[in-house]
Amino acid sequence: MCGIVAYIGYREAAPLIIKGLKRLEYRGYDSAGIALLNDKGLNIYKKKGKVAELENELQHKEISANLGIGHTRWATHGEPNDINAHPHFSQSEHLAIIHNGIIENYAAIKTSLIQKGYTFESETDTEVLINFIEDVKKHKGCSTEEAVRLALSEVVGAYAIAVIDLEEPGQMIAARKGSPLVIGVGQNEYFFASDATPIIEYTKDVVYLDDHEIAVVKDGELAIKNLDNQEKGPFIQTVELELESIEKGGFEHFMLKEIYEQPKSIADCMRGRLNADTAHIQLGGLIHYIDKLATAKRIVFVACGTSWHAGLVGEYLFEELARINVEVEYASEFRYRNPIIEEGDFVIAISQSGETADTLAALELAKHKGATILGVCNVVGSSIARLTHAGVYTHAGPEIGVASTKAFTAQVSVLSMMAIATAKQKGTLTDEEYRSLLSEMASIPRKIEQILQLDEEIKDIAKLFTFASNFIFLGRGLNFPVALEGALKLKEISYIHAEGYPAAEMKHGPIALIDEDMPVVFIAIKDSSYEKVMSNIQEVKARKGRVIAIVNEGDETVRNMVDFAIEIPNSHEMVSTLLTCIPLQLLSYHIAVMRGRNVDQPRNLAKSVTVE
Ligand code: GLU
Repeated sequence: MCGIVAYIGYREAAPLIIKGLKRLEYRGYDSAGIALLNDKGLNIYKKKGKVAELENELQHKEISANLGIGHTRWATHGEPNDINAHPHFSQSEHLAIIHNGIIENYAAIKTSLIQKGYTFESETDTEVLINFIEDVKKHKGCSTEEAVRLALSEVVGAYAIAVIDLEEPGQMIAARKGSPLVIGVGQNEYFFASDATPIIEYTKDVVYLDDHEIAVVKDGELAIKNLDNQEKGPFIQTVELELESIEKGGFEHFMLKEIYEQPKSIADCMRGRLNADTAHIQLGGLIHYIDKLATAKRIVFVACGTSWHAGLVGEYLFEELARINVEVEYASEFRYRNPIIEEGDFVIAISQSGETADTLAALELAKHKGATILGVCNVVGSSIARLTHAGVYTHAGPEIGVASTKAFTAQVSVLSMMAIATAKQKGTLTDEEYRSLLSEMASIPRKIEQILQLDEEIKDIAKLFTFASNFIFLGRGLNFPVALEGALKLKEISYIHAEGYPAAEMKHGPIALIDEDMPVVFIAIKDSSYEKVMSNIQEVKARKGRVIAIVNEGDETVRNMVDFAIEIPNSHEMVSTLLTCIPLQLLSYHIAVMRGRNVDQPRNLAKSVTVE
């Protein structure tokens, strides 16, 4: 993971880089560091902990420079401490590097460098890479740019890097394979970052570096080459991202802001695609593939984490509405399993960032085996979006809280629209069902507004369970994935152990855990498994479990059975997950805040998982 920011131009580099790193902290926050090159030399400042701690460290230091590289780390090689923090110097201290990714063959390279007399301060793969570059430079007698190219040709793994050289104060070298890197192109200045958020304040003109490409800024000019040294002109695009969308806007946390944004983000996701009044649905990204999707033999969703839960919702939707056989795979398992792909198979990746390393690799494998590959991503221009034959953006806007909320509901909205459009194309829906689904989808933003008004009520419930040590979340059918997602949310941000189960599975094991100290959250709306879920609630109550239930408005029957009932508006079963997940997001959020957790940046996690 990690966030990287680099700058070359005429502005003060340090404040600009620090500000950019703060925007990228969702990618990792184990340590932060910055290297600055000025007429006094090349200096590195780094510190364990958040970017704010680095910022404090820099106060009262002579850090004026127009060239610098900065990093916020999510440790893979070596514990989070000052020494393993990036940037790293080469042995001569003439070169400095920041790196996002993993150099898989670092151990072999390190052994050969040690034999040549190199010593290492840190445990990172990154320090190995910068010394390897230095060694190539020394032995070939070539430029740093050439040494970077030659060294990267020998490297196995993933990287986005930026390298600066004490002897070349007008130069910045960057490269990528597998980890994202965006270059902002200004007037006599260039910005490099893991995503566009540190850049948009200064310029909207960006170049997305591709895998195996090296970008070099020298004497104010940007050149892009591949690892075979062939030059290609930079393809400059305009990034559509506004500054307000990446700021907290008066909310205490990004997560809360993003929960509250859901009526808008879902409306944005459906805008121009779904019109209930004209009974029209069309997904621009799928225009050339909708026929083929309707005749697909099988759909395989590949995803990780919350996106995998969205995939499970997608499974129910596509099977029920379009009658297509669906499998949902953890991308990390799928990619190492030699999966069977047959003609007519669609493999659909779901990833907020579009950079998730395992999902990207699973997709590459599926493409290689002949599947049609589609993407459901939030970040425009991301690696998955560029690899796929076609896809649908979720248009949820930037999600900064590490725990996914609005990205999840946007993914489910896209999958719902895809399933409805496919079913319509295939003729598996009656006209009446089709129209009813469209108007139910269109009513979701308004119904979420209503649920958000229950925030105080949910906060009061959260107060009573703040110090629980365990939680169980139960649901059936489409709401089983919501139970999984509810448990994941709570785990991620409050560090309470939580499990999600299909409600009926409870009696095959988890029921042994139920006693008066065990809170059990049921999704008990009036869907096709309502009666069954009621029996499951009775089973928990009979064992003195404390039950919080998500129910439909006016459901006195369940209310009378449980300790707490949270009432949400009625909806069609097929769209219900977009509503049932909202109270669970708020419950986790409030419990985590009351436990004093850092909800936006929970420990050990990072948002965009670009390592496998
Ligand atoms: N492998 C590098 C380290 O451990 C970078 C980590 C990353 O990008 O996740 O420092």
